[in-house]
Amino acid sequence: MKIICIGRNYAEHAKELNNAVPEKPVFFMKPDTALLTDNKPFYLPDFSQEVHYETELVLRISKMGKHVEKGFARRYYDEIGIGIDFTARDLQRECKQKGLPWEIAKAFDNSAPLGGFLPKKELPDPILFHLNINGETVQEGTTEDLLFSFDELIAYVSRFITLRTGDLIYTGTPAGVGSVKKGDRLQAYIGEKLLLDFEVK
Ligand code: MG
Repeated sequence: MKIICIGRNYAEHAKELNNAVPEKPVFFMKPDTALLTDNKPFYLPDFSQEVHYETELVLRISKMGKHVEKGFARRYYDEIGIGIDFTARDLQRECKQKGLPWEIAKAFDNSAPLGGFLPKKELPDPILFHLNINGETVQEGTTEDLLFSFDELIAYVSRFITLRTGDLIYTGTPAGVGSVKKGDRLQAYIGEKLLLDFEVK
C-alpha cells in the first residue's frame, strides 16, 4: 500500500505558502508507516517546532490501474474519505530553500491520520469538507476549488506509478493551514459527517 499526496491543488493554499499555481499536478509520497488510523492520538515529533495540519479529501483506489485515461478514472475509486497531511513546516521550508526532497517534513511516522470513508455515489457534487480544532472551524474546502479534479489526478499519477487496490491519494489542502499544539482536538468532516476525531499529544 502506498500513499500519494498531491501538493498545491488549491490556488488559495498555493498562494498562502508563496508557491506558484502549478500547470501540472505536483505529488509526493508517504510510506505506510505514516498512516494513523482508528482516531489514535498524534504525538508531536521532537524534530519540529512547527507541525501544520493540512485537511484533505482522500481517494481509496479500488482496482489496479496504469496509464488510466481521464475518462475512465472514476472507475478506479469508489470511496472518498478525509485525512490530515501533517507537515513539519519548518523542515519543509529548509528543504525547499536547499532544493532537497521533502520526506523528513512530510513522510514521518503518523504524519497521515486517516478517518472513515463514504461511498462516492452517496456524495454530492461539489463535496464540502472542513476541520474543527477545539470546536472551532479552521479550514474549509470544496471540490469546486480543485485545480486538478480527482479524475485528472488519477490519470496523471498513473502515467508514472501503477495504482493498486488500497492505495490512497491525499488530494491536496485548501487555504487555512496552521500549527497544532499539545492538547488540540482535531475533528474532520465531509459535509456534516464527522469522520476523523483525534487528539494531539
Ligand atoms: Mg498536503
